[in-house]
Amino acid sequence: MSILIKNGWIVTQNNKKEVFQGDVYIEDNIITEVGNVNVEAEYVIDARDKIVMPGLINTHTHVGMTDLRGVADDVSLDEFLQRMWREEARRGKKEIYEGAKLGIKEMLRTGTTTFMDMYSDEDATAKASQELGIRAFLGWGVVDEELTTQEGNPLENAEKFIIEHRKEELITPLIAPHAVYTCSEETLLKAKEIAEKYDTLMTMHISETRREVYEHRKKYGLRPVEWLNKIGFLNDRLLAVHLVWLTLHEIKLLSAHEVKVSHNPTSNMKLGNGGSMPLLEMLQNGLLITLGTDSAVSNNNLDMFEVMKIAALLHKNERWDASVTTAQMILDFATVNAAKALNINAGSIEEGKLGDVIIVNAREPNARPLRKDTVVANIVYSLNGLNVETTIVNGNIVYSNMP
Ligand SMILES: [Zn+2]
Repeated sequence: MSILIKNGWIVTQNNKKEVFQGDVYIEDNIITEVGNVNVEAEYVIDARDKIVMPGLINTHTHVGMTDLRGVADDVSLDEFLQRMWREEARRGKKEIYEGAKLGIKEMLRTGTTTFMDMYSDEDATAKASQELGIRAFLGWGVVDEELTTQEGNPLENAEKFIIEHRKEELITPLIAPHAVYTCSEETLLKAKEIAEKYDTLMTMHISETRREVYEHRKKYGLRPVEWLNKIGFLNDRLLAVHLVWLTLHEIKLLSAHEVKVSHNPTSNMKLGNGGSMPLLEMLQNGLLITLGTDSAVSNNNLDMFEVMKIAALLHKNERWDASVTTAQMILDFATVNAAKALNINAGSIEEGKLGDVIIVNAREPNARPLRKDTVVANIVYSLNGLNVETTIVNGNIVYSNMP
């Protein structure tokens, strides 16, 4: 397939962060020309008065739970987890597949082209992802065997899933240990071994609540990140999620091991985790920051535009300083940084990059005026996912509401 997008406002997210009016040509699954393009194409999209930008990358979801939206609102994480585990015991592949389809449709509708997931039965989510055409990093959830609701051993299930799906174009399988309070040292080190054996990423919730940190310290004498460092678990394959309750020492440990970060401000605030992820200290220590929605049960949507805005606002308010986050920085988290963390050739609109592109209708009142010098601020602070008109993943139009 070839797609020519004409006369759009292109927010390239290239190194110079250029924004200009022009055309984007996608051939098969690659962006092959950007600028003033005069070629024939199977699909020509008139993007006048529209924003053409890289697809957003959501680095933390549990899409198989999307059909549980609204079932655990206004309760603490402990009560939340108790309810989720009760629900999960009742759920099978069919429910997870239906939940995943709903979540992926929502992500494509709101401009997300790639997501990283953590859940059991990721084979059901892989099926839904393939049917809907999204780029999916699927982390098979692992907890200690005595805690699991999965059939069989979670580590063995994860390994089998990785073997079965590692040759697929849009699916990247990986292993996802749940947290320090559900995974023993032995489970974590075996998970790491599997990641190394198959050369995959890992993702894990870490230091989400103060209670998690205090209980861990009571049990092991160390905070979670200190303990993970001591047992030899930290490494550059790991994308750590939440990291709300961290010391500067822990930030330095994460940085020394090149651990990547998924910041989930909406979920953290909704669950009343208190405080906020120490973003500025993390940036000062060179950590790579990306953004995630978390599940539709703790967010309660999968709209990355909303997450960008909340991420920006949370830290301004926390630090009593509006300048600590900028729209450009936040857009980088959701595009180029995330592509780097997942090691994909995406996140910007440049020749040779994957054809993961979204088009936003900027004729809507909340997108006006459309100006070169304010378009990035509009993306982060005034648009929402429902402004997205067309979503292209891997050179395929997978969502469009163009008239
Ligand atoms: Zn999560």
